[in-house]
Amino acid sequence: MEWWVSVPKVELHAHLNGSIRNSTLLELARELGDKGTIVFSDFEHVIRKNDRTLREVFKLFDLIHVVTTDHKTITRITKEVVEDFAAENVVYLELRTTPKRNDSIGMSKRSYMEAVVDGLRSVNLALEMKDMGVIGIDLSGNPTVGEWATFFPALKFAREQGLSVTLHCGEVPNSVEIQAMLDFLPGRIGHACCFQDEEWRKLRSYKIPVEICLTSNIRTETISSVDVHHFADLYKENHPIVLCTDDTGVFSTSLSNEYALVSSAFGLGKMELFELARKAVDFIFAGNEVKMELMKVYESAATTL
Ligand code: ZN
Repeated sequence: MEWWVSVPKVELHAHLNGSIRNSTLLELARELGDKGTIVFSDFEHVIRKNDRTLREVFKLFDLIHVVTTDHKTITRITKEVVEDFAAENVVYLELRTTPKRNDSIGMSKRSYMEAVVDGLRSVNLALEMKDMGVIGIDLSGNPTVGEWATFFPALKFAREQGLSVTLHCGEVPNSVEIQAMLDFLPGRIGHACCFQDEEWRKLRSYKIPVEICLTSNIRTETISSVDVHHFADLYKENHPIVLCTDDTGVFSTSLSNEYALVSSAFGLGKMELFELARKAVDFIFAGNEVKMELMKVYESAATTL
């Protein structure tokens, strides 16, 4: 594990709300319990647990939804999430979140995002990475609700304005939508789990990079076990892929852990995974200046590791 922590890593698929520290969640839940907003004992066991079932994951998200409703908390959790990734030698992080509006406490989508950016600003890593602002758009949410066609115009517009786009794609089987999403040619997609032959064909011919979230896919039962995960085929074919966590908090993982897991599950050596981490630099949404900085990080790590 020490070695996996020491490898400089690039994280491109992590949700802010799913990556909150357990200790912070406990503290926030206890405060809400004292105020009578929730019954603390209903949630305590699920926060303290590490290998949560799907049902428990949803219960935790219910709690997270309640605790992340003020600006101060959002700034705090953003800062902590960045600190945690930095502590395990993640040299570049793209954090995603859904801006929320909450009229009762005067929160607008803009002020929500300002609170997130405040959190980023208070961490050194963010300051070092000049481009660490809003650089792209992610489409996520319950994949069984709504339609791709609803979001297509907004995403198209965003891309025309110079923002990069990544899509949660193939979390549930839906050939028509998955193919339409691939035809959109997003900068990256997350998961790519429930693909049929034609979807794989399109993915390969378009060479769209895939954010692989192994532990998440297993915990949410999107993939039945690690040995049938599509990582193996994509890796073998040299398809662009990047290992990511999705939700370090909810799924009790870290990016170093995902690297270690892939190494043992698929029999890959340290150098192969080092190369995989290095290649992820090509798929980041930040500009060339940041890419060059990251390449230097890997060059120097290659000589010392
Ligand atoms: Zn996700």
